[in-house]
Amino acid sequence: MATTPSALLDSRKSTKVIVIGGGGTIGSSTALHLIRNGYTPSNVTVLDTYSIPSLQSAGNDLNKIMGIRLRNKVDLQPFFNNTGRLDCAHSEQGIRSLETQYQSLVDAGVGLEDTNEWLDNEDEILLRMPLLQRDNIKNWKAIFSHDGGWLAAAKAINAIGVYLQDAGVQFGFGPAGTFKRPLLTEDGASCVGIETVDGTRYYAEKAILAAGAWSPTLVDLEGQCCSKAWVYAHLQLTTSEAAPYKDAPVVYNADIGFFFEPNESGVIKVCDEFPGFTHFEMHQPYGAAHAQRISVPRSHAQHPTDTYPDASETSIKHAIATFLPRFQHKELFNRSLCWCTDTADASLLICEHPRWRNFILATGDSGHSFKLLPNIGKNVVELLEGRLAGDLKEAWRWRPGEGDALKSVRAGPARDLGDMVGWCHDGDMDVYGDRNDKEEGVGGKV
Ligand SMILES: Cc1cc2nc3c(=O)[nH]c(=O)nc-3n(C[C@H](O)[C@H](O)[C@H](O)COP(=O)(O)OP(=O)(O)OC[C@H]3O[C@@H](n4cnc5c(N)ncnc54)[C@H](O)[C@@H]3O)c2cc1C
Repeated sequence: MATTPSALLDSRKSTKVIVIGGGGTIGSSTALHLIRNGYTPSNVTVLDTYSIPSLQSAGNDLNKIMGIRLRNKVDLQPFFNNTGRLDCAHSEQGIRSLETQYQSLVDAGVGLEDTNEWLDNEDEILLRMPLLQRDNIKNWKAIFSHDGGWLAAAKAINAIGVYLQDAGVQFGFGPAGTFKRPLLTEDGASCVGIETVDGTRYYAEKAILAAGAWSPTLVDLEGQCCSKAWVYAHLQLTTSEAAPYKDAPVVYNADIGFFFEPNESGVIKVCDEFPGFTHFEMHQPYGAAHAQRISVPRSHAQHPTDTYPDASETSIKHAIATFLPRFQHKELFNRSLCWCTDTADASLLICEHPRWRNFILATGDSGHSFKLLPNIGKNVVELLEGRLAGDLKEAWRWRPGEGDALKSVRAGPARDLGDMVGWCHDGDMDVYGDRNDKEEGVGGKV
């Protein structure tokens, strides 16, 4: 029987919901949309290992690429920087993929060709981004998206945290916010709450697991998600070096990487592009019959001396030499691993866990989900209320055994950190707790 609008409103007021991973991207968006939809703030409990924005969220970052191609107005306007976005390619495969991307924009039939321009050669690209070096972009093609840009990622999640706090949402952080297991009915078929690692028990009608790369380590997802790290590093520009780059578009090349305009302190973030790094260990998530080989994230927050593999230094420097050759001799700092979780087809995993009624999964970000921050929580609430659109329900369903999350849709298999050198500095502390690795310029996250 369909729920009447007034019954839905009543149920929203009285239903208790726990959001696990609420300090991250999908979790904070979910808590935001619960409140926007009329859930009583004191009935919403946000749990996370770290307070919002969580230090180990993939979204706790200087900036992320954002677009408004999906016709949704970005509703985090103060944090959206509409600098434009330049998607480039030079390899045969890269150009083919860019052409397909452009055609799909045109085929959408909603006038996206008005805001997305095909650039066919270096002259056209330089008109949009004169700061690139002509010699380095010979035979490149590009799409320039006038409506694209970047979102001040950590600041946007932080703003959601402030909103939730002001609204009166309940929080649990640290050991009292760190998920240990679902609390189940006697028959084991329904979830009635969550126990955290300090033994605190939270009871609710619905629990949502939005723990990003940690999700497959917390509950058995039957191999549907494989967590992987990507990397970034930062460059410090002087005021005069930074000035010409103000409002420069985000430049992306799938074979090389991407960078953003400098922040207010002249810091540029540079990423490379590659199939990710796994970190396999024997591990037993809740609900699994035995320990299995699972890629377990190692966050910078919990391992502050971790940097990234030597191989990443080479590829990040290649990205800098291509995009920003005038800065290629600058020292890099805040080299970091950042963890996401891939599904086999790179679609999200947003569904009820088939073994535990009222235990909802909201994960499987596949490394491209920050841009969903403004509205993914709306979809999670729709699923919670049994009114998620059929096509989304189908795309985000429970689907074990369909494809390979380790490979996902990426160009090649992920390499394991266990086979890589240069990223782990566990033994590098001196007796005062200072880093011995002096190549790292500035400590902490930007
Ligand atoms: C280098 C890099 C660059 C990227 N660039 C872009 C980009 O430009 N555009 C884009 O759209 N996307 C980008 N992404 C991807 C994007 O950041 C992620 O897809 C997105 O942030 C994932 O959101 P999430 O909510 O699933 O996970 P997260 O944001 O990581 O949140 C997971 C949360 O779960 C919490 N948690 C973990 N364990 C527990 C536990 N036991 N109990 C309670 N809480 C727990 C964590 O503390 C964290 O807060 C990038 C990713 C990387 C790594």
